Amino acid sequence: MNQRPRLDPVPIPFIDVAAQRRRLGRSVDEAIARVLGHCQFILGPEVRALEVELAEFCGARHVVSCASGTDALVLVLMAQGIGPGDAVICPSFTFTATAEVVALVGATPAFADVEEASFNLDPASLELACAAAREAGLRPKAVIPVDLFGQPADYDRIMPVAEAEGLFVLDDAAQAFGATYKNRRVGALAPATATSFFPAKPLGCYGDGGAVLTDDEELAQVLRSLRVHGEGHGKYDCVRIGLNGRLDTIQAAVLMEKLRIFPEEILARERVARRYSAGLADVAMVPRLASGSTSVWAQYTIRLASGRREGLAAALKAQGIPTAVHYPVPLHRQQPYQHFPIALGGAPVSERLAEEVISLPMHAYLDETTQDRIIEAVRRALGA
Ligand SMILES: *Cc1c(COP(=O)(O)O)cnc(C)c1O
Repeated sequence: MNQRPRLDPVPIPFIDVAAQRRRLGRSVDEAIARVLGHCQFILGPEVRALEVELAEFCGARHVVSCASGTDALVLVLMAQGIGPGDAVICPSFTFTATAEVVALVGATPAFADVEEASFNLDPASLELACAAAREAGLRPKAVIPVDLFGQPADYDRIMPVAEAEGLFVLDDAAQAFGATYKNRRVGALAPATATSFFPAKPLGCYGDGGAVLTDDEELAQVLRSLRVHGEGHGKYDCVRIGLNGRLDTIQAAVLMEKLRIFPEEILARERVARRYSAGLADVAMVPRLASGSTSVWAQYTIRLASGRREGLAAALKAQGIPTAVHYPVPLHRQQPYQHFPIALGGAPVSERLAEEVISLPMHAYLDETTQDRIIEAVRRALGA
């Protein structure tokens, strides 16, 4: 009998973009080829067609596509006229872009804490962050709740606070397009919603892309002008200061093909998340979904006692299983953001989460055999 050499375990991708390409077959290639055929690379027919389909999908009346999720956030802040002297409240436990855009328009981010159960904005801390901003001589103008890891923030509790404080609500749904909250889809939960089509997001394209979703016709019109250098009637009529923030036609074509299989992928992600939780709930703190909410599982993120995740990451890495930490440092502790106002009492939950979270491979094409290998490896590494 041949003695088989001991092989290193087959590495598992964290997000398997190639598996999705196989599932899509030739449809994406053909969609791209159609754009190469008509050569309307900027704001070609696919861009408008995609916007109509996205609006239908999420239930928002208007969709304005743009160059990235970051631009989607910037465009809304610009349209709202937010600038120097204004404060915009952001959760501290999020990706940098949420607060970065506030500073980019010349306003000041003020940080609030998140809730233990959902990792999303804490409405009580939102109030405290407004007070801190006022104390610093700023006018609180808006709040950017983040639907972190794919689960919507608690809008029924955030909206009344925002209303009382006079804040415009911009949903950062970069990770949550396709999720629902009390039978409403992300895109219809706030006056404006920004999402991202970065390849690793639940609905991703093959480059950068984003969109703003809103029911507000006037806002949509301003956004369309802003994304093309503030144009008015025609290309060389300039009515406001804007930017170059358009979505490429090729990316719109890719997204239309991906949108067709997106509902199926959301279900697959839900299955993966359920199996992870069933296999890991007794050894780690698994994600909690609020009742009435669904997640699109941009990340599947567990919590371990402080100091344990490095060991887990190393043990998994040795077996070809990648992990990631979203996010190791809360924004109010990042060097460029340290001097901005923060809610009274700070953001202790954000700080704790930053020490304890670790994300496992998550995508719609994670088969059960591979997932079992991951679950077993996590259990062994945690001594179960
Ligand atoms: C990805 C992300 C963004 C930015 O999206 P880009 O398309 O990469 O610019 C903003 N906010 C959050 C929470 C994100 O995860």
